[in-house]
Amino acid sequence: MEISLRGIGVSPGVAIGPVVTFHVQAIEPPRYGITDPVAELSRYDAAVEKVRFYLLRTKDRMADEVDEQHASIFLAHLVILDDVALRPEIERRLNAEKINVDFLVQDLIGEYSKLLANIEDPMVREKIADFSDVGRRILHALLDREVDSLEHLEHPCVIVAGELSPSETANMDMANTMGLATDEGGRTSHMAILARAFELPAVVGLRYISKQVMPGDTIIVDGTNGVVVIRPERATITEYLAEKRRQEDERRALIRAGGDGPCLTQDGVQIETFANIDLPIEASESLKTKCMGVGLYRTEYLFMNRDSLPSEDTQYRAYKLVLKTMAPLPVTLRTLDIGGDKMVSYLSERKESNPQLGWRSIRFCLDRPDIFKAQLRAMYRASVHGNMRIKFPMISGLDELREAMASARQVREDLTARGVAFDPKVKIGCMIEIAAAVVLADKLAEECDFFSIGTNDLIQYALAVDRTNERTAHLYDPSHPGVLRLLKQTIDTARAAGIPCAICGEMAGDPLFTELLVGMGFDSLSMSAVSLPQVRAEIANTRGVAAKRLAKTVLSLGSAQEIRELLVQRSQARATLQLYRTDPAAGGE
Ligand code: PEP
Ligand code: MG
Repeated sequence: MEISLRGIGVSPGVAIGPVVTFHVQAIEPPRYGITDPVAELSRYDAAVEKVRFYLLRTKDRMADEVDEQHASIFLAHLVILDDVALRPEIERRLNAEKINVDFLVQDLIGEYSKLLANIEDPMVREKIADFSDVGRRILHALLDREVDSLEHLEHPCVIVAGELSPSETANMDMANTMGLATDEGGRTSHMAILARAFELPAVVGLRYISKQVMPGDTIIVDGTNGVVVIRPERATITEYLAEKRRQEDERRALIRAGGDGPCLTQDGVQIETFANIDLPIEASESLKTKCMGVGLYRTEYLFMNRDSLPSEDTQYRAYKLVLKTMAPLPVTLRTLDIGGDKMVSYLSERKESNPQLGWRSIRFCLDRPDIFKAQLRAMYRASVHGNMRIKFPMISGLDELREAMASARQVREDLTARGVAFDPKVKIGCMIEIAAAVVLADKLAEECDFFSIGTNDLIQYALAVDRTNERTAHLYDPSHPGVLRLLKQTIDTARAAGIPCAICGEMAGDPLFTELLVGMGFDSLSMSAVSLPQVRAEIANTRGVAAKRLAKTVLSLGSAQEIRELLVQRSQARATLQLYRTDPAAGGE
């Protein structure tokens, strides 16, 4: 009988294929007495060297084949490998207890993992995976056994696992991986980021899936809806195959229909459509969806999934790669936006009770000018390789904007004094994500080059709804009239001041809002690359006059429900109209 499970869809699309299960091989080394602790310690040192060789080789391969960020995962593992606490403890116990080193290593991994597991911080929990990963490799080296790996898969398959560690994910045979399904994991886990970057359908948080499948079982992973079907019946496979084809055809047709370059409404108004990216490798992927550049590069991902700050040079290389890939198209680099739900363990000094309202984003950067200026230096140095813009996140008022601008100025002066080349014409913008910034938009517009509205945060701050809290998710509503009026106020202020104003939150990628946003006056939208084809098609199907009329009606309403109903009606009407245009006979039935 087929089993259908619901989890968290972290990467859209449908994959259907045979299961390859990935279980971390449990090793139970025997416990026995030894007479020569020195010889036993040498065995340990030799095993560590073997692992070091593997990690260095993998790090270099990752840097060549993927990017520096993924290579940095292995640097972090090298740091754990050289953890000063581990060797002395092993030496002490070898001398005191005179038992074999493999048993001691296993015992210490268990002990440390238990200690870390009691800490609530999710970032520390992620470290358990790193720590166990390294420990397992040492054990395998001691016992001269191969570590299970997903590096070489014999055929295309869907990988099912309890969880996937950073090294397992980074080493995966991407050519044969069709999709992923795991017991554990969240939206910001490394696996999720990678799955999106490689457009692999993925569902995580499935609890016990790894115990419910056998290798070779057929499985369906529906990453769009967060559903997995194990051992599907023939009718279900047929249904999902049709859905997969439908999604792929729709995407291809949308990409074709969207044409190249600027996207025009029916009456010829040009709307710019940009991609949001989290990792440098996504830049080339986003080009396939005919984006006009990158409207938001979330640079904080370069700081995540590692144990220490990326150096200025590492940052420079990542920014240069994105700028060169996209050139001559523009790329807007956002300065470090950590905190909230994007915790960076080595930078968060203590746990906050309200992280979304806490020490995050530009507040963090202004408190840590060393980190902020190193990032700005890396950005300006990279600016000669393409068409770069910079934007500051979470600006709440003029003082913050001025302080951030002053840092950028100092960096430019410093580079000039040192004779380092940079593009002096880089435009600097301000993200509008806090209600106070909307109210002060006229003042902010006088001192920056452009606005970019981050609706993900603006909605959470305007409605006082934590964007990560599942219990209040139904209250997090982009159709709320309060939110829509804030958007309208911002675009009107920007227009009056003569500066461009874009939207780069998820709302920009939701086709339900496309006509409304165009009608409000937005002519620049930035979204995940997967949403681009559909939004471009919506734009091509929109008429300026009707869009303006829609915006006027919507902004006169006071109920979110009424607004949503109206938008759904409009979207159905547009779809019918499109049907008439492409196939009058079908529409006329
Ligand atoms: C936003 O807040 O809308 C945004 C684009 O930034 P992030 O989702 O990274 O906070
Ligand atoms: Mg934001």
